[in-house]
Amino acid sequence: MTIDKDRVVSIHYKLTNDDGEVIDSSEGTEPLTYLHGAANIIPGLEKELTGKKVGDSLKVTVKPEDGYGEVNPELIQIVPAETFKGVDKLEPGMHFQADSPDGHAMMIVVEAVNGDEITVNGNHPLAGQVLHFDVTVDSIREATPEEIDHGHVH
Ligand code: ZN
Repeated sequence: MTIDKDRVVSIHYKLTNDDGEVIDSSEGTEPLTYLHGAANIIPGLEKELTGKKVGDSLKVTVKPEDGYGEVNPELIQIVPAETFKGVDKLEPGMHFQADSPDGHAMMIVVEAVNGDEITVNGNHPLAGQVLHFDVTVDSIREATPEEIDHGHVH
């Protein structure tokens, strides 16, 4: 069986950035399982996996436009410290849930704390990055009708 639309695929992977630093890896844990053709994983990786079979290994380089998108400067903002009323000590690297301009929940990261001026970033942490995947296909099976209906693996 090869990887195709409406099949459930498990992969082991290692993700490194352009500097060769490991960002994420399934080593020592369960493989990543996803429904192929349902946009469960980034398009640049999904496209390259199509047609592969169990045991195949591949290296995939994904540009930002096929990954997590380019950095959107509008999502980097300076807000007053009072926005974080109730937070004891505000420090760079802290994550908060916020409402995006169109009303969806989004994750923001505190980039810098300058007295009353807090720089926050709502971009995906991997936005703007070229991603390098080392992938091995672990298993492939047909998805159930319910999984196809839901667009994810059960
Ligand atoms: Zn479901």
